[in-house]
Amino acid sequence: MPVLVMKFGGTSVATLDRIRRAAKRVGVEVAKGYDVIVIVSAMSGKTNELVGWVNETSPLYDAREYDAVVSSGENVTAGLMALTLQEMDVPARSWQGWQVPVKTTSAHSSARIEEIPTDNITAKFGEGMRVAVVAGFQGVSPEGRITTLGRGGSDTTAVAFAAAFEAERCDIYTDVDGVYTTDPRVSAKARKLDKIAFEEMLELASLGAKVLQTRSVELAMRYNVRLRVLSSFEEPSDVAGTLVCAEEDIMESNVVAGVAYSRDEAKMTLVSVADRPGIAATIFTALSDAGVNVDMIVQNIAEEGRTDMTWSCPTTEVARAEKAMAEAKDGGVINYQELIADTDVAKVSVVGIGMRSHTGVAAKMFRVLSAEGINIRVITTSEIKISVLIDRKYMELAVQALHDAFELDKAA
Ligand code: ASP
Ligand code: MG
Repeated sequence: MPVLVMKFGGTSVATLDRIRRAAKRVGVEVAKGYDVIVIVSAMSGKTNELVGWVNETSPLYDAREYDAVVSSGENVTAGLMALTLQEMDVPARSWQGWQVPVKTTSAHSSARIEEIPTDNITAKFGEGMRVAVVAGFQGVSPEGRITTLGRGGSDTTAVAFAAAFEAERCDIYTDVDGVYTTDPRVSAKARKLDKIAFEEMLELASLGAKVLQTRSVELAMRYNVRLRVLSSFEEPSDVAGTLVCAEEDIMESNVVAGVAYSRDEAKMTLVSVADRPGIAATIFTALSDAGVNVDMIVQNIAEEGRTDMTWSCPTTEVARAEKAMAEAKDGGVINYQELIADTDVAKVSVVGIGMRSHTGVAAKMFRVLSAEGINIRVITTSEIKISVLIDRKYMELAVQALHDAFELDKAA
């Protein structure tokens, strides 16, 4: 029988009543003839609560015990979902990650899935079980310890199961009804997309759109898993939601598919660094060793052998970057005058595979921002995206103006 993967996020299993509604949807697919693998998140808010308990108990916690605690929310919903299905006379049972087993690396709290053997679950399907309910977000390390996949990781569990079982589709049920051209809370003209290409979704997810965990999109792209994002609060239908799929499966699309933003950016500038070969290597090695995720980088024109080096990184990593630079200065590795951190910035990006074949997108983006009187502080581009760093107070305005200018409210 064909296999379907259905993933229910935290809000879709937040109460027993919602679990019942989700189970009904599963029942509909079972009736169509699918063997279903259901991946569940913890009830909404649960994982945050568990993380809070760990931090309160042990600020410098043992990451293995963090995972043991934080993974438990999913165990509860997996069992409850299986019970609910059984009450509906659908043959179902729950599986925790280690029981499958979902084999991962030992990088606790951000482990990667290495392998999902299919034999255990397939054997049960062969015996008449119709639904395997699997706790998302968790696995087991080579050392036999419980691991978790990073926040939002049950999306990745779902895609990995879809790839391993060669599922017909992987449906991600969430609290929004699909992927939008931008955040509807920022622009009232945001439009739901029927389809979006893997690469566009990957950029949007890593640029701040929160609908899917970035790694789940990476995996879907690698294994060509047809991924659908849809709301668990709307009436079921075959055309609902947004299909994330290969570029070839999209006939027409706008040059720009979406506008993403991230509030959580900081701009840091090392003022007056000695401009010599190897200086960038030294600075960014020190930052990377300190675990700072640098995104944009600008090196200014040198004057009299000194230059300014600017980069952006998440606001939460500013303190770490400051410490690393101060240590490098004390150790005589880097010589600079001062380090300035500006945490009042935001990143706004336009994304679209159409940029590969259309010129002028960057110029248009800059004209739109300039017409609104918004100063651009840093720019970066890739083949299919352009990002700018601007003052945070202009973020909403920039998103709205770009959404209007690229006419994202209209389909191609
Ligand atoms: N419950 C986990 C989290 O909140 C995993 C997930 O829901 O995807 O991050
Ligand atoms: Mg999520």
